[in-house]
Amino acid sequence: MKKYLILLLTSLILNASFAQDLKRVQKKYYPNPTVLDLQTPIASKKTGYTSYKEMKKYLNELQQSNDSIMKLSVIGKTQKGKDILLVKLSDSTTSQSKMRVMYFARIHGDEPGGTEGLLYFIDKMTKDNSLKELLNKIDFYILPMVNVDGGEKLTRQTANGIDLNRDQVRLETPEATAIRKLVNETDPHVCIDFHEYQPLKSAYSLLSDEVISVPWDVMFLTSGNPNVSSHIRKSIESLFLENAKTKMEVNDFTSHTYYTPKKTNKGIVMNIGGASPRSTSNTFSLNNAFSILTESRGIGLGRKSIGRRIENVYLLAESFANTVYQQDTALLAALDSAMMQKDPVAVEFVSKKTAQYPLPFINQIKNKMDTLDLDVSNAIESTVTLSRELPVKYLILPDQKYAIETLNKMGVLVDTLSREEVFEVQSFEVRDVEKENTSFKTFTPVKVKTKVRTETKRFPAGTFVIKTDQKRKRLLAVMLEPESSNGFVNYRIIEATQGKELPVFRLMD
Ligand SMILES: [Zn+2]
Repeated sequence: MKKYLILLLTSLILNASFAQDLKRVQKKYYPNPTVLDLQTPIASKKTGYTSYKEMKKYLNELQQSNDSIMKLSVIGKTQKGKDILLVKLSDSTTSQSKMRVMYFARIHGDEPGGTEGLLYFIDKMTKDNSLKELLNKIDFYILPMVNVDGGEKLTRQTANGIDLNRDQVRLETPEATAIRKLVNETDPHVCIDFHEYQPLKSAYSLLSDEVISVPWDVMFLTSGNPNVSSHIRKSIESLFLENAKTKMEVNDFTSHTYYTPKKTNKGIVMNIGGASPRSTSNTFSLNNAFSILTESRGIGLGRKSIGRRIENVYLLAESFANTVYQQDTALLAALDSAMMQKDPVAVEFVSKKTAQYPLPFINQIKNKMDTLDLDVSNAIESTVTLSRELPVKYLILPDQKYAIETLNKMGVLVDTLSREEVFEVQSFEVRDVEKENTSFKTFTPVKVKTKVRTETKRFPAGTFVIKTDQKRKRLLAVMLEPESSNGFVNYRIIEATQGKELPVFRLMD
């Protein structure tokens, strides 16, 4: 009975406060900075956040007074026809080749902290001379608001209901395609995607009788996909994250590796990290760039701690830039080593499952930190269960236009056979096709089992040839191996039929 009363009380408190922190929790753990020299549009607003229109006007004016280092351009249009704005910060008076850093925010429209924080970063870059020194070594490509349509309504998805951070494989939205085009044109060394997470979730009432929330000012989501080069993963961990964590600590912010609840048939399991190529942190790391997704504490908090959230994003942007500035040589060497790696493709892998894993939360009623021992699934520590040698080339039959179009959007280089040729190849016979339980708006993924055979086969003129000695080799291999989670077969870009051969082949020499 007591438990039900507490649950009732919990839900009343959560509903009454619109799932926000209790006041005393805010006061104790999340004070706004006392000094924040904000000159961006939000500074003069009593309610709400910087609108798209305000942002556009502000950036236009800022460019006019800083045209030697700042250039505003348009990388594409949203579904509702809004310009997706790119701010390039670059000092063209220094001639050395620069590191290219891409920052983007508002992939999810209901996460305004990233936009506000990046506008603040841009503003400071134009005013603070010590910050401007970063431009001696770095060109910045900043997209403060990607999902403008969602941003204007403060909704997560784009106008047609697709989640942009689940669309990095099929690239069905003009917004995801525009980001990819920018990445292909600028080839950034670093891609940072600024998000916000929801600290109080109804799922947590299933974990505890108390009202609990996730405490961290920021959580870091890096790629747990075992196909990402170990050189890239190491540098992200030991350089970017180490510096960012220190930066957080000395400024009285807290940080942690990303965790989030997932409802399963065995109850709530906490997912740590992530490995799915459909989301940015993985797809851009597979692309051979240093890629991190940051999750600042924001959704559901209204404007309560907005100053703190802006400062948080700003400090992260500054920290990542400083790491690039100080470690440019080491980072370039790591990218070179990543290119040389010829590891097998990890086709299937499973996250490490642990019971009774301690994870910290805030007990909102008692106003103190609590640790819960929970079931976790850790994507950062996964075990590979199926791997294959990286082929020299993949061959794809000429009728697979959707696959080729998607590879082109991803910046993968594709050749075609000018005449019929015979090769000895590895082919995939589809043994089993099973629909997954979760559907997306436009498709239901499938799981396949295949048998690999070696055969001598005649390929017609027009067959697509994809060499794997190219920059995006890890990404394209993950996309083309049929059992890959989020790959082209799983995501229905290439259709599999039971008992038939797949239109994808591996050429081993
Ligand atoms: Zn998000």
